[in-house]
Amino acid sequence: MADLVQQILDLKKRKNAVILAHYYQEGEIQDLADVTGDSLKLARAATQVDADIIVFCGVHFMAETAKMLNPAKKVLLPDLQAGCSLAESCPANKLDRYQQMLRENGRKFQTVTYINSTAAVKALSDWVVTSGNAEDIIKRVPEGMEILFVPDRHLGQYLEEATGRKMILWNGSCMVHEIFSVGDLLAMKKRYPHGVTVAHPECPANIREHSEFVGGTEAMIRHVGSFKEPTDFLVATEANMMWQLQSKFPQHRYHPVPGISCACNKCPHMALNTLEKLRDCLVNEAPEIEWQPDFETARGVLERSLLK
Ligand code: SF4
Repeated sequence: MADLVQQILDLKKRKNAVILAHYYQEGEIQDLADVTGDSLKLARAATQVDADIIVFCGVHFMAETAKMLNPAKKVLLPDLQAGCSLAESCPANKLDRYQQMLRENGRKFQTVTYINSTAAVKALSDWVVTSGNAEDIIKRVPEGMEILFVPDRHLGQYLEEATGRKMILWNGSCMVHEIFSVGDLLAMKKRYPHGVTVAHPECPANIREHSEFVGGTEAMIRHVGSFKEPTDFLVATEANMMWQLQSKFPQHRYHPVPGISCACNKCPHMALNTLEKLRDCLVNEAPEIEWQPDFETARGVLERSLLK
């Protein structure tokens, strides 16, 4: 393992590469990264890097986003199969048909798309949001317009409550956040009566309503950091997030809220990236995210949504 880590560090230096890692990657990968973050922080970081190669340790739509914002850079993803159930739940051709049907019915709307989506879907959108900036972006949609929110119905519901704007919701969800067990959460709350439950807005309403705090991963870090005394946190998001919390705020205790079928809830797509694949992609400079025809349009939507 120490050998593998050293190989990666040497390759990174020799190839003038930078490693960006999402908070849902295994701790050993986050530990090696130049930048760790949520989708918004990493997308913004990708525009600032001075390296020739960006190795994106995350899932496909994230690496695609980094490529769209950096057309001239080589963007690598350790495993090209690292997908996302949310992105898959909204195919571009279905969204296109649905938008046409709404227009034919005389509906005036703007499409607000969660960043967990393909480039082809982003290209059909007016705005792209992350859990970190969604409320601000929704304020930019003119009052007279309806909002079609895709693809996450749980995040959409949460945003309806947070902003007071009614939305047409696409019926997609994240396979990780969808299956937290509310029964186990209630049992944990009895075991830790002074504990604080923090949940991601991709969780269904029955988890959010039993949580003291709901927010994206960056907001979660800020919230946990505001507690000075050692505290028990019950964490309802992808389980690797606890590595990040533990390393930033070691005075607290963190307890994963389990899924209905497993003791903790890890994203199988994120887990496809390993240290070995990270080393190999630096050696081979592949798999690489290739420029696609949809990227140009999607890039314009990304830039006005995330960078302005
Ligand atoms: S945790 Fe959910 S939303 Fe995030 S990459 Fe995995 S499947 Fe997609």
